[in-house]
Amino acid sequence: MTNDFISVTSPLLPSLEEFEPFLKDIWDRKWLTNNGHYHQELEKALAEYLGVEYISLFTNGTLPLITALQAMRITGEVITTPYSFVATTHSIWWNGLTPVFVDVDPATGNLDPQKIEEAITPKTTAIMPVHVYGNPCDIEAIQEIADRYGLAVIYDAAHAFNVKVNGHTILDAGDMNTLSFHATKTYNTVEGGALICHDARTKKRIDYLKNFGFAGETTVVAPGINSKMDEIRAAYGLCNLKHIDGAIAARKKVASVYRKALANIPGISMFKERDGVSYNYSYFPIFVNEAEYGMSRDALYEKMKSQNVLGRRYFYPLISDFAMYRGLPSATKVNLPVATRMANEVICLPMHAGLTDKDVERVLNAILIK
Ligand SMILES: *Cc1c(COP(=O)(O)O)cnc(C)c1O
Repeated sequence: MTNDFISVTSPLLPSLEEFEPFLKDIWDRKWLTNNGHYHQELEKALAEYLGVEYISLFTNGTLPLITALQAMRITGEVITTPYSFVATTHSIWWNGLTPVFVDVDPATGNLDPQKIEEAITPKTTAIMPVHVYGNPCDIEAIQEIADRYGLAVIYDAAHAFNVKVNGHTILDAGDMNTLSFHATKTYNTVEGGALICHDARTKKRIDYLKNFGFAGETTVVAPGINSKMDEIRAAYGLCNLKHIDGAIAARKKVASVYRKALANIPGISMFKERDGVSYNYSYFPIFVNEAEYGMSRDALYEKMKSQNVLGRRYFYPLISDFAMYRGLPSATKVNLPVATRMANEVICLPMHAGLTDKDVERVLNAILIK
């Protein structure tokens, strides 16, 4: 069975035995959504687990981005990264705002703070960085710029579930942070997400916005949306939370085997792990330099695929290359040389808690045996 597919990701699932009593309880309560028992329980449990005070659950990881921009009444231009999942920029567009793409730092794949500053105009009101692959952004440098120019900072932290720097969560950086609990993410509630803020008044406003703007039975205070997490997924999320530490530990093991085996392969590079960062190992990107490796990224990707080892070219193409954004002045390749190179060289290797030693060996052989 050595030819079984090795997929790039596989969802963390609670066991049916542990999930069933929760379902039975939901059936008994007959309360399926609208801030139900398990919704409240999961908010509390996640706040405690992640080390944040104010968190609101959502139906997915895109609506918290859209809602954060609404909640803060962002206008004009929002500086963001082209090297991310499309939802980051789409959320800006859905608010009728103009995304301004800025290049990334080759050491992290994240927005380069110096280039953020160069892109600020009188219309800029916010920065939306992404901790890509769970690599922490330069939070201090970004905040310093935001404070100097009076800009809001909304982090798309979809990859950064429980990432810490020197023992402290990065999910309290900036003004707001969003998470995705999609099935493919490190922690999942099937579909789901969250918006983290710093105070009770802001959380209240967010909770109005995700429930049509209702502030009472007959009072609507904003043109809100419906993005409430239901009881079934909240209960599923509570079950999964018990397994997340084990899953991250398993991912860490895989990452360290990959890292060792690929350390000295000409033409293959990886991000360095930084001291003091507690990673979640959500992705394992490698970068293929065609001249040095002797094979293009796409050729390696196809070769892996022919051996049933499925990588993903995350993030290729760049968001700025999609038809709806490529006409923007900031979308030109000359403005984004680092992001362009990374997008052309990246392959994310299979990374999930279910990979066996044999799987990892097969992934590595696909790269090492030419
Ligand atoms: C997954 C993801 C999202 C969107 O999350 P969904 O839960 O799929 O809506 C947003 N931003 C980034 C960077 C992501 O990877």
